Amino acid sequence: MNYDDIIGHKTEIESLQRAIKNDHISHFYLFEGEKGIGKKATAKVFAKHILCKAKKDDGPCGVCSSCRKFESGSHPDYLEIAPSNGMIRKNEIDNLIKQISFSPFESAKKVILIDDCEKMNKESQNALLKTLEEPPSYINLILVSSNPKLILNTIISRAEKIHFKSINANDMVEFLIKKENIPLERARIISDFSQGSIGRAFELIKSDEFIELRDDVIRLVDYCIFGREYEVFEMSEKLAKTKEISENVLLILLLYLRDVYFYKFTQNDRFLINKDKVDLIKKHSILEFEKINDIIKKIYFTKESIDLNVNRELLIETLFFNIQEEY
Ligand SMILES: [Zn+2]
Repeated sequence: MNYDDIIGHKTEIESLQRAIKNDHISHFYLFEGEKGIGKKATAKVFAKHILCKAKKDDGPCGVCSSCRKFESGSHPDYLEIAPSNGMIRKNEIDNLIKQISFSPFESAKKVILIDDCEKMNKESQNALLKTLEEPPSYINLILVSSNPKLILNTIISRAEKIHFKSINANDMVEFLIKKENIPLERARIISDFSQGSIGRAFELIKSDEFIELRDDVIRLVDYCIFGREYEVFEMSEKLAKTKEISENVLLILLLYLRDVYFYKFTQNDRFLINKDKVDLIKKHSILEFEKINDIIKKIYFTKESIDLNVNRELLIETLFFNIQEEY
């Protein structure tokens, strides 16, 4: 893992590389920003870079004994803490504080990463704070959080904050083409459907089912509009098989209708998500704006009802019949 395995965040990464180059690494960082955008991945590469023995400016060398130990998860000077069962326990922080007091074994530094650090309770945070007042010179602590509001101000004010912005679609598409070797059109679809979450993008790449599901859902919209609504009964079982599938169906519908709306508004296919379905989108854009909005409201209603565990198959059927009625 190196910096070029991270999607986007170029400015943030450059500032971390600069800190290492100038030997100005802070003792204490807070990496904050939305969930699933690569904060922890960046923190890990940064940790590996700090510990690396080759002292390259642009990233960890990947071949020295430190990098190899880091990759295999056995680096004695790297410690990673994450919540278990939704919380970080006090005894883990106590243990961590003890570890901080021992000098590093392998590298010149010791790096500690606490993921989802807002899951520490007040007591743990206070204990950690004491250590941060006078950290040993070899310590670099990186806290990672998507909800820093839950962290004590006294901790936050001591940290060098690195704010991670949402990943923009172009960065994601570029990454998917370069690293995952998938064609542009498919990279675009995956990027749009994953809505900025890398974790979700990887799930979708692996899932041929998702692409197939998208074809099914859009075809079913077409059937409903042109009077083949009996197909809804045949397909609804499949579309409601699991909660996850149903949620994907709703997401696909939502983004498809967004395309229909957008196309109707602009008469231009440049910004469509489902670019490969442009013929159907054109055909379906006969619907009035107000009615498209009605359907979108019903999709949200269906989503809420699914969350409340109402019969999924019935909900999906009803939704498609609603679409048919609107046309
Ligand atoms: Zn190295």
